[in-house]
Amino acid sequence: MDRVMSGPIHLDRRSFLQAALAGSAGLALGLSALSCRESEPSEPALGPQRIPAPPEYGDWRDVYRERWQWDKVVRSSHWVNCWYQAHCAWNVYVKDGLVWREEQSADYPQIRPDVPDFNPRGCQKGACFSERMYDPARIRHPLKRAGERGSGKWKRISWEQALSEIAESMVTTIDEEGSDRIIWDQGPGISMGAQTAGNARLSVLLDSTSLDMNTEIGDGHRGVGETFGKILFERSADDYFFSDMIVCWGSNPYYTQIPNAHFLTEARYNGAQIVCITPDFNASSVHADLWVPVKPGGDAALGLAICQVLIEEDMIDREFIAEQTDLPFLVREDTGLFLRDSDLHEGGDEDELYFHDAQRGAVKAPRRTLELGDLRPELEADTEITLHDGKRVRVRTVFSRLKDLIAAYTPEEASSLCGTPPPMIRELAQRFGRAKAACMVTSSNFGKAYHGNLTERTQALVYALTGNYGKKGSGFVGFPFLTHDGIEKFILESFAFPIRTVISAMGKFEETRLRLAGFTDEMILYEQSRNAFAMGMRTSGALFWYIHGGLIEASEKLQEWDPYLDRPIKEVLEESLEKNWQYIWPKPGNDPRVMFSLVSNPLRRIRGYPLILEHLWPKLRTMVTIDWRMTSTGLWSDYVLPAAAWYERTEHKWVTPLMPFIHAGEKATSFEEAKSDWEIMSRLAEAVDKEAAARGIKSFKDRTGNERPLEGLYDAFSSGGEYGHGDDDKVAGALIERASNLEGVEWEELKKKGWARFTSLGNTIGSIGTAADITPDDTITPLTHHVNDKQPYPTLSRRIQFYLDQELYVEMGEQLPVHKEPPTAGGDYPLILTGGHTRWSIHSAWRDDKLMLQLQRGEPAMWMSVEDAEPRGISDGDRAKVFNDLDSFEILVKVAPAVRPGEVIIYHAWDNFQFKDQKGFQNLIASPLNPVELAGGQFHLRPMDISMQPSHTDRDTRVDVALA
Ligand code: SF4
Repeated sequence: MDRVMSGPIHLDRRSFLQAALAGSAGLALGLSALSCRESEPSEPALGPQRIPAPPEYGDWRDVYRERWQWDKVVRSSHWVNCWYQAHCAWNVYVKDGLVWREEQSADYPQIRPDVPDFNPRGCQKGACFSERMYDPARIRHPLKRAGERGSGKWKRISWEQALSEIAESMVTTIDEEGSDRIIWDQGPGISMGAQTAGNARLSVLLDSTSLDMNTEIGDGHRGVGETFGKILFERSADDYFFSDMIVCWGSNPYYTQIPNAHFLTEARYNGAQIVCITPDFNASSVHADLWVPVKPGGDAALGLAICQVLIEEDMIDREFIAEQTDLPFLVREDTGLFLRDSDLHEGGDEDELYFHDAQRGAVKAPRRTLELGDLRPELEADTEITLHDGKRVRVRTVFSRLKDLIAAYTPEEASSLCGTPPPMIRELAQRFGRAKAACMVTSSNFGKAYHGNLTERTQALVYALTGNYGKKGSGFVGFPFLTHDGIEKFILESFAFPIRTVISAMGKFEETRLRLAGFTDEMILYEQSRNAFAMGMRTSGALFWYIHGGLIEASEKLQEWDPYLDRPIKEVLEESLEKNWQYIWPKPGNDPRVMFSLVSNPLRRIRGYPLILEHLWPKLRTMVTIDWRMTSTGLWSDYVLPAAAWYERTEHKWVTPLMPFIHAGEKATSFEEAKSDWEIMSRLAEAVDKEAAARGIKSFKDRTGNERPLEGLYDAFSSGGEYGHGDDDKVAGALIERASNLEGVEWEELKKKGWARFTSLGNTIGSIGTAADITPDDTITPLTHHVNDKQPYPTLSRRIQFYLDQELYVEMGEQLPVHKEPPTAGGDYPLILTGGHTRWSIHSAWRDDKLMLQLQRGEPAMWMSVEDAEPRGISDGDRAKVFNDLDSFEILVKVAPAVRPGEVIIYHAWDNFQFKDQKGFQNLIASPLNPVELAGGQFHLRPMDISMQPSHTDRDTRVDVALA
């Protein structure tokens, strides 16, 4: 900066930005590993055109003076996976082809006059993206590895060379070994807009393997899926305003939902109390009326103790429980399994379950509606029944069994498991019992814990016992997601006319069959998703890394770590795959050959990533990273292709019900040779087409053994040339045109305005689970279709289901939610390493950003309690070695009284290159595979897109720490 200020040098706007960022960010952050060392100049690039040279400036003051002048303002957003907070409308100011700054648009409408609106929306990460996008870590042109993988040596090549060499590898793989060995790690950058459309079309046409990484990253919400038959349901954030008890249980919304957090504050003006249940006194606890401390891994015990008090003090909603849950259902005492129609009648239905009516005795529970009419299911029936073979067996309700179970979880007993003082447990339970509308702030924390499903089942139980569903401002929630439903139609259109017609006709036939069998709209969609999943439309990302990435090796010692497990986890895995409870593509033994990381970063993300490098990388013929910035994965790739960053492409993106407005934006500018994801996929499809033609390959066998055309691939991809390489805008518009849940929304208007409110949930598994109406003038309260309209839930029992009798749950003693001690993952060490989303980045996108680092310690840091630091001789700001049986790494320590003794916290998504010797903190996370996650077979326990697949976990990792 001195240099800029000290002399009469000539500096244009781009140079000014780059000098400032490279000087203070690049050097300070030790980004030398990222600088792309090139050994040869590029061949001429395919478009986009270089930006015309901007005018020169005398010095930095000229640049600053012109900050308030611009050539154009466009609407855009950050097409990053900021999930719970997604998304926000921004005005982006462009001058001389550069984005100069951004500003929140703050023009969302008032939904109800008595409820706060959504303005303004944004966060500090988004507010500095105009700086971030010119960071030295940006990828400017295609790069090819010029040394060993991971050596950091690169050669600049042209797009043509990059795509033709990658296409060569793909065609060889398709021709010699099978197209399912081409792997797409879609990462969290999925937009459901033009970006997703391009990759989905190419992946489907090639019958290649797309990884579903939702459960892998720990967002699988298995406990929610086990209980509700779906995981995706959520309220709009303004619905908090109707709540009188808002519970942040394992969540930290003032870090993770910055644009939504004001609704919590505003609800307090309306009389709501905020309760935080967390091990640490975090940024959200500061705003709470009651902070309830809990041991990491103790939440299920706490939840069960709350249930015990609620039942003991008769603060439960019996009418709600009888109608909406499986608690009145009968279970056989001799087997511990539900009483089924097949028990009572020869040839009876396995899925028909029973409850006990005081007048009629055992009665088949209605499955097409929750309306009970004159039926009165008893909650505490305990009786004998004659089976079809004449055998007499004792049956009791799930509720009776639950009461027996939770007798062991009095506040006094549970306190030793969860660490919460008994009077506080009792008070918390009474607050739940008294609340008119208690709700839960969504969190994906527990999906990242080995026994997190037990916690989620328990949380759902607390809200069910108190009847806190379907009322405004009430309810435990799952995972938030809301998207348009135009993409499936767009993908289908890439198939040739006769095939498309056949697929549509088969789909309609199946839909009719299911509807006649009493399936609701959401059940039909989930069933279609399960079928597609079984056929390999997508595959479990977690299982892919366990099996093909060798991560299962880290679970070898699981029997030592998990005292409840009686057999090797590999045996359970084999059983699961053999019985088709879970699926994996490519099949074990068929090694992956070509892999794409699409604005993803698996070597940063995957727990235990050194195993992936050891087991998977040598099998890969070609590893390609497509991203706008260099990442830990890019450093280990063969090719790195520059993707357009968020202000550099026309796009729209999914949101969540928390913010029920689709967001769209126009391309504001371009950057060097970066291309949009659609264009990259389009050019790749063309390159594969050409390569196959050059080799005379006209078709290939797909994974089911059917012959598929390879000839004319690009023609199919582009719908006969209708959607060309640069047609992002047209593709994005085509998706909106095909959507049924954006009625009256015109693409041209949407991209100028930046947002439009969804008009309904639409017909897609991503959104339908919220089971509520979206109206222009009211908040969204989830599950009202079930609670008010009596639509059955998509579970085996058609109710909110707390009892699971699938074999693996019986084997592990988890028919009902129980407390289990967390495994000592990584070895028997005294500290438990946890984490969470950070305030200063969305995943790794801003982790090495100069401005965000200035708000923290400037480098990766681990939070540690005073009680744990002192005996180890560690002071605030010291560097420490963290270790367990798997490995070690070094990190700066932040000693904080807010941290619970026995716990250390690393907020996630630091890139490996930010650590000494590039050893990131994920290297000692074993992520053991939980056996019940391998279950399947039963109605709602079968895997589908997004859910009911195995996951990766990290919240149980045991470590010790010593001064480095
Ligand atoms: S990063 Fe996400 S939450 Fe932050 S301003 Fe951008 S869209 Fe909004």
